[in-house]
Amino acid sequence: MTALVTGGAGYIGSHMALALLERGEDVVILDNLTTGVRDLVPDKAQFVQGDVGDARLVRQLIAEHEVDSVLHFAGSTVVPDSVSDPLRYYANNTCNSRTLIEACIQGGVKHFIFSSTAAVYGATEAEMIDENAPKIPANPYGRSKLMTEWMLQDAASATSLKYIALRYFNVAGADPLGRTGQSTPRATHLIKRACQTALGRLPYLGIFGVDFATPDGTGVRDYIHVSDLVAAHALALDHLRAGGESGAFNCGYGHGFSVRQVIGAVEQASGHKLAVKELPRRPGDPPAVVADPGKLKGRLGWTPRYDALDQIVRHALEWESRVDAR
Ligand code: UDP
Repeated sequence: MTALVTGGAGYIGSHMALALLERGEDVVILDNLTTGVRDLVPDKAQFVQGDVGDARLVRQLIAEHEVDSVLHFAGSTVVPDSVSDPLRYYANNTCNSRTLIEACIQGGVKHFIFSSTAAVYGATEAEMIDENAPKIPANPYGRSKLMTEWMLQDAASATSLKYIALRYFNVAGADPLGRTGQSTPRATHLIKRACQTALGRLPYLGIFGVDFATPDGTGVRDYIHVSDLVAAHALALDHLRAGGESGAFNCGYGHGFSVRQVIGAVEQASGHKLAVKELPRRPGDPPAVVADPGKLKGRLGWTPRYDALDQIVRHALEWESRVDAR
């Protein structure tokens, strides 16, 4: 039995591939390397450069490797890009996922783990978001992912495919052993950019909004360590393989940190004061987004190991100081 990891040369997918290999699984990685990095593919994984929208290739891989499970990370993830080029996001995240799901069903794949996002909820007043919160995505990225969740839900009702959609909150940090980390060429995420600033690769860190209704006026997010997120995927896979039901789960810790708190943590970890510039809010940014992780803990038995901002930041910084300036 083999796990097919789409986007396995990317940030989260490469961490997943390592974790699966550590569990003794056979791993095939399918990645088109548009944002993935070949060097992040673990040696023991089989690597195929290609597209999840290539139905023939996917069917061939499933048959050849007797794939029983697909973990689908490949996708486009930059929210502002999804606003300026929505059809590319629907093509890559929605249409290609549809092709992949169909190929899985045709090839007899039984288990499908999908990288979804907190962006499926959109703006919400709730202090902590649970899975039943209204799904009103505020941008094409969130809609492209929500549509894939709907396809999975409908396909799972009609076929023997079972799925888990994991709705990621703010993924950060890097492999504690330093084997992989976030290498996306054009980083937009706060912790990555704060680390780049601390290392002198960015002249300053922009703070997008200082007038939110939050304790210090800056945006609050629930930052989850990538290794804890990967552990949630492994539990989801075990759950499905043990005959568990399909469903969606939030992935976050249940508490948030502000932009200023993140900056403080990066300053502490790096020993450098960060140059910052207070800027207007980024369009569409909600004040606070925090997960209710009760379902993930209760149903899948998830216990976080890295729920500490200083640790997340330290791992991110260690990785950032290893990679070339990008
Ligand atoms: N943010 C910021 N400066 C940056 C990047 C992000 O102030 O250079 C803020 C952003 O407005 C939000 C938080 O940091 O409040 C997290 O943003 P990120 O892009 O990391 O993730 P998002 O929550 O948008 O998915």
